[in-house]
Amino acid sequence: MPIRPEFRALYPPNWRELSARVRFERAGGRCQGCARPHLAHVRCLPDGRWFDETARTWRDWRGRPARWPDLIDTVHVRLTRVVLAAAHLDNDPANNRLTNLKGLCQRCHMLHDRPHHLAQRWLTYRRRWAIGDLFLGQYGLQPYPTVIATPASTPG
Ligand SMILES: [Zn+2]
Repeated sequence: MPIRPEFRALYPPNWRELSARVRFERAGGRCQGCARPHLAHVRCLPDGRWFDETARTWRDWRGRPARWPDLIDTVHVRLTRVVLAAAHLDNDPANNRLTNLKGLCQRCHMLHDRPHHLAQRWLTYRRRWAIGDLFLGQYGLQPYPTVIATPASTPG
C-alpha cells in the first residue's frame, strides 16, 4: 500500500529495509494472514479462498486447506496479483517496532485496516459537516439557490 504523502514524515528513514525485513525475513515472502506468496498471480474467490499452485490445493482466508469451489463458486474466480506490505497493527505509522509490524497481502491489509478506515471516514464527514455549519450549512451537496430578479417580478 503506498504511503500517503501526509504520513510520509511519520515513517523512519530506514523504512524500506524495515519493511523488507518484515515481509521477507520474518514472513518468508508470504502473507502472515492467508499465506499467499508475494508477487504471485493467484486465483481467488470473494470469500477469501485462493488456489495454492505449489500445494495444488485451495486454501481459506487463513491459509488452511479449504474445500474446492463448486460450479457456482467457479463463476466468481478471479486472478489477482499478490503484493505484500508491512502493516502497522495499531494503525500508527509512527510505531515501527517489529512487534507492531506484520507482512500482509493487500486483502488482509484492507480487512485489518477496515475499522480504522471507517472511523477516519466518519471523522472526515463530521469535519465537513462542521465546516458546513460554520459557513451557511450548505454541506456542499445542495446546489446554491439562484434567484434572478426580473423587472416584472420586482415589487413596485
Ligand atoms: Zn493475506
